[in-house]
Amino acid sequence: MAKLYFSYAAMNAGKSTILLQASYNYQERGMRTLLLTSSLHLTTENGWITSRIGVHASADLYDPDDDLYALVRRTHRKTRIDCVFVDEAQFLTPEQVWQLARVADRLDVPVMCFGLRTDFQGKLFPGSAELLAIADTLREVRTICHCGRKATMVVRKGPDGAVVTAGDQIGIEKAMYVSLCRRHWEEEMGRWPAVTPARSRAPRSQETRPKKAAATHPRTQARPARPAAKRR
Ligand SMILES: [Zn+2]
Repeated sequence: MAKLYFSYAAMNAGKSTILLQASYNYQERGMRTLLLTSSLHLTTENGWITSRIGVHASADLYDPDDDLYALVRRTHRKTRIDCVFVDEAQFLTPEQVWQLARVADRLDVPVMCFGLRTDFQGKLFPGSAELLAIADTLREVRTICHCGRKATMVVRKGPDGAVVTAGDQIGIEKAMYVSLCRRHWEEEMGRWPAVTPARSRAPRSQETRPKKAAATHPRTQARPARPAAKRR
């Protein structure tokens, strides 16, 4: 039985390179693949899947409104497709992920999706969330942070090079993204050090502080409740 695969990673991990290599392997054996990529890249990468090491292939574009099951079935009926490859799979709608699952389940054509797991704010993309939920096989494509740890997060940088901490989930320019480990991502996003780092190391002074500050302090909340801190 054909499977639905999801290979996920941070930015610049080589997902597109792996996709193109896998597609090439099929073609080398005389098999036919269907390549799809999001139309959200239309302005910069018109119908192409490109990798940073210079490999590229033309691809059909999908819109959020497209029925991908119908699209694949239509193509498959004309000429047999042996595997469907989907790049930028984070931009799939949840319904489209189900359509691709049906391609595997009902047309018996394997579907390999490649995409980002989370956006620059550390939130799952809807397409990635659905894929993580229902794909048969999950694979993490590894890349590394500047510190050498595995990079699992991305930050978006503005034209001035400064890290952007708010805004639209779908910002496209790949060059604007940097992959980081979780630790350095939190620092770049201004989430660490925490708001009152000095106080977190001085729990004794807690009772003299305003109650509001004590109540919002994560360490205070994690600790067994003390009557003095709990009282309003
Ligand atoms: Zn790091």
